[in-house]
Amino acid sequence: MAKYSTGGGLDSGDSCELCGAAGVETQSVNVAGAQLEVCSDCAQHDDTAKRDQQSSDRNEQDRKRTAAQNTARVFDATRTDSTHWESGADYDDDQLPYLISDYDEVVTEARQGAGYQLGELADELDIDEGELLALEQGRAIQAGLGGSVVAAVEEFLGISLVDDD
Ligand SMILES: [Zn+2]
Repeated sequence: MAKYSTGGGLDSGDSCELCGAAGVETQSVNVAGAQLEVCSDCAQHDDTAKRDQQSSDRNEQDRKRTAAQNTARVFDATRTDSTHWESGADYDDDQLPYLISDYDEVVTEARQGAGYQLGELADELDIDEGELLALEQGRAIQAGLGGSVVAAVEEFLGISLVDDD
């Protein structure tokens, strides 16, 4: 069954080694690592062609990624300059800002200093007790807390949890 091309490749009257069509013009393609003589229909399975396609897709993705990174950089610069959160919280994009490293301790101490139990403060701020607990346990990122939760805690307790550096 296996037939080895001696070079040429386009002998008329060959049969396709993939679909078995006889009397067709075949061409030499690389399928799953094997060199086969196939008809033009089956030539679409050519791994070499697929690889070229993928690499051009990848280039396209790289271009898009680079563009996205540029956009993100511009966005970050804009946000750093703006007076964050005061200008109306955007709940569609309630991103957690960069927090200071010991924000958990700052929140806990401020809450206790203000004489609130965890649940009391959560009620006062109209946030989930679990969210407040996550903040006090340093799990703000893992818990997926929004910037609005942080802003509410900051405002109520008169503390700053955002790393402005
Ligand atoms: Zn074929």
